Formats: sequence, C-alpha cells, structure tokens
Amino acid sequence: MSVAICLFTADLRVHDNPVLRAALDAADQVVPLFVVDDGVRDAGFVVPNRAAFLADCLADLDGALRSRGGRLVVRRGDVVAEVVRVAEETGAGSVHLARDVSAYAQRREARLGRALETSGRRLCVHDSVTVVPPGAITPASRGHFAVFTPYFRKWSDVPVREPLADPDTVPVPAVRSERLPSGADLADGAPSPVLPRGGEGEGRRRAAAWLDGPVTRYADRHDDLAGDATSRLSPYLHFGCLSAVELVRRATAVGGPGAMAFVRQVAWRDFNRQLLADHPEVAHEDYRPRGDRWRAEEAAVAAWRRGRTGYPLVDAAMRQLAEQGWMHNRGRLITASFLTKIMYVDWRVGARHFLDLLVDGDVANNQLNWQWVAGTGASTRPNQVIDPLVQARRFDRRGDYVRRWVPELAEIEGAAVHRPWLLPTEVRRRLDYPDPLIDLDEGRERFHRARSGGER
Ligand SMILES: Cc1cc2nc3c(=O)[nH]c(=O)nc-3n(C[C@H](O)[C@H](O)[C@H](O)COP(=O)(O)OP(=O)(O)OC[C@H]3O[C@@H](n4cnc5c(N)ncnc54)[C@H](O)[C@@H]3O)c2cc1C
Repeated sequence: MSVAICLFTADLRVHDNPVLRAALDAADQVVPLFVVDDGVRDAGFVVPNRAAFLADCLADLDGALRSRGGRLVVRRGDVVAEVVRVAEETGAGSVHLARDVSAYAQRREARLGRALETSGRRLCVHDSVTVVPPGAITPASRGHFAVFTPYFRKWSDVPVREPLADPDTVPVPAVRSERLPSGADLADGAPSPVLPRGGEGEGRRRAAAWLDGPVTRYADRHDDLAGDATSRLSPYLHFGCLSAVELVRRATAVGGPGAMAFVRQVAWRDFNRQLLADHPEVAHEDYRPRGDRWRAEEAAVAAWRRGRTGYPLVDAAMRQLAEQGWMHNRGRLITASFLTKIMYVDWRVGARHFLDLLVDGDVANNQLNWQWVAGTGASTRPNQVIDPLVQARRFDRRGDYVRRWVPELAEIEGAAVHRPWLLPTEVRRRLDYPDPLIDLDEGRERFHRARSGGER
C-alpha cells in the first residue's frame, strides 16, 4: 500500500482542499496530519482566542475525516521532525502541504523540503489558500503589485477554477496519534468571553446563510458599525475552514452589487498575501519607510488598549475586540489611525495587540492593514488621518454602536454619546468615563509636521 501525508496547516477542511485531494490521488492511503507546532507557539502567535478556535477546527476536521472512514492524526513538536518521523513510521513517499506566505511558513517549507529530500521523499506544495496564487499575476517590473486597484483589475480577469469534488473516503494507515488538543492545551490564559465556534461545519453554515441573503446588501451596509452587516467569515478564511475559491465562486453566482463588493473585499486578502510572499520582512519592517520617529507613550497606549481614550467610538471598537476577539473593519480603521496618527505611536505596537486578541489574526492581513493605515504600507494616501468624530457622524449616526460597547455611556441618548465632554456638568460628573486623552487637532498637526519633516 502506498502512503502520502497531507499536512494540514492553513486549510483545515475537507471540501475543496487541493492539498488533501492531491494526497488522496498520490497514494492508496493518506495520513491527515496536524502538528501542534512548537515553532508557531515560540513565535508568540498562539494566543487563547485563536487556540480556542483552532481546537474547534481540529475536532470538526477529525469528525469530517471519521465520517469518511479516516481520522486526524495529531503530533506535537517541531513540525519538520514530526513529519519526517510520521513518514518513516508509515513509509510515506510524499508529503502534501499548502503554500503559505509568512517568513515562518516559507522557512518551514524550505526546511521540510530539504529534510524529506535526504530521505528520498517528495514535498508537493499546493496553492490552496488564496483565489489567485501569490506571484501568479505580477506587473512587468517586480514580483508583486504595490497598489490594489491595478491588482484587482488583473485578479478579476483570472478564471477561478471549479471547486473540487468532496472526497467520499479517506483511508488512513495505522499510526499513533496524540489526543485532540483543547484550547487550554494550546495556549495559556483565558479566551475572550464571546468567541465564534470554529470549524468547517460552522464555517459552511455561516457562509450559506450569508450568501442566502445578507450578501446582497453588503455594498450599502458594510460600513454601518451598529448594523454589523459584514460576513464575519474572516476566522474561517484565516484557518482555511472555508475555501476562498469556493466562496468567491458562490458569491459570483449570486451576483449583483452586494455580492461583487464582497468578492472585491476577499481579493484584498489575496493582495496582501502576494505582497507578503514577495517581501516577508514587511510583517515587521516598514514597506515604505517614512522616517517616522514614533512616540513611546506607555500610559496612553494602555488607555487605548483598554478602550479608555475618552473618544467613545475608538473605545467601543477596542471593547468589541476584547469581548469578541473580533472588530468591525471600520472600527479597525478608526482605532489603528487613532493610534498611529493622532497618538503617533508605532504601528507594530497596535498590530501586536490586535494579534494578541483577534480570532482572525493573520500575519498578512493584520500587518499589512496596519501599515496601510499608518501610511507605511500600500496606501496611495499615506498621510490621511481618520477623524473619529467624522466617522461617528457617518457610520454610527445615532450612537447605537457606542451604547452597545461602552456601558458607562449607555444612558446617553442619540448622537450626543459621541461627545461626552459636551454634556452638562452634572451629567458628565455622574459618568465613569475619562476626558479625551489627547486633542484631535493637536495630534493631527503633530503628525502632519512629522511627516513633512518638521519638528516631531
Ligand atoms: C488595522 C487592521 C487590521 C486587520 N487585521 C486583520 C486580520 O488580522 N485578519 C483578517 O482577516 N483581516 C484583518 N483586517 C481586515 C478586515 O478588517 C477583516 O478581514 C474584516 O473586518 C473581517 O470581517 P468580515 O469577515 O465580516 O469581513 P467582510 O467585510 O465580510 O469581508 C469578507 C472577507 O474579505 C477579507 N477582507 C475584508 N477586508 C479586508 C481587508 N481590508 N484586507 C484583507 N482582507 C480583507 C476577509 O477575509 C473577510 O473575511 C484588518 C484591517 C485593519 C484595518
């Protein structure tokens, strides 16, 4: 009996999974392997929220494999050493893996390739994470697109393949497995109180419900903070519980302005990945350095993290992040701009806090969106400052989002909730809510002076 290993990393699903499909086609039996990777933990990437979600994903994947006659094989340790060990134990001739873009994933792939080669085995890498693989479309002059609009034009012209047929059976050889990990086995600390359940089954249910109606209103409603009218599929895409190819095909079949605006947003995910694949160092380094000498403001950063800046919209979004391990995209833009431009604090400080909490925390999407907002990334308007009060008027007109997330202000009616410093003194005194941390105009002016090379 020939054996192949399907090493699950960023593709925790059985539907439309090119890695699993290729492993099944390559051999009589497949080891569906997940390695609880010491390297990912040591890199500080395993945090309670994503650990809880990942544990759900693994349990769900195990169930899906069992219903096809197989099961998930779990090991723990150095991913390369464990894969080689499993290959030796089972006599596997090939290992199948999703291509991924972070520096860590690129190193892992290279190390694994070398280790397998020395024992006469093949590493087969498959494009299963994005709709259009990184590097598949490039401008004439370089290895990636630096601006989204021309990228998206090309991206839209690439034919999207048909989703793969679902495997009926997954025959697995006899091989030792550790038990499925719980969230607590994977990371120390308590997760946020209200997290989505992870896994392909839940992801598919949510995707079906989303495509069955709400997606058609996405173009009009995606920025409405209180309306909460985005798909919330990001963690399922991050862990690969959903195939981006299948999602885009199904949304395209729905058609219309809402579904097509949604498809465009999914293309941002591919855009960030093609950039990071070509320049993995931009996870930590400025993509376009602006000579910033960021301010170190420990106490102010602590207030930002806790949602106590005195700007209700900023604070509401930060509280949503703490409570749900997720934040509305408009909230991410507002809070990131507040930190990097009004407070003029290094984007890496904010990106780290987001990665500590986001259940969809993703190196490509998080670091490059932070850089985009900070003006060191791919934005064509790097010095634009997002004003939380203007945003409040546009995207939380009646103040419902703030009242939902900042209980100290729940009794303040209407849009007045966005400017508590203007409330009558006796009302103001009753509220356990801070004065603004910083004057918006002062912060904005300091930022513009700094970026134009003046005093910092
Ligand atoms: C500072 C900052 C940090 C961010 N960090 C992350 C992160 O760690 N992980 C993450 O997945 N997204 C991140 N985003 C992008 C975006 O905010 C989230 O993808 C989105 O809010 C997820 O909610 P949703 O699934 O309801 O999105 P929808 O609006 O329903 O969009 C559908 C999908 O498109 C993709 N998408 C949407 N917007 C973007 C975008 N701007 N960039 C890349 N992909 C996008 C996501 O996969 C999302 O699930 C960040 C944005 C900012 C401004």
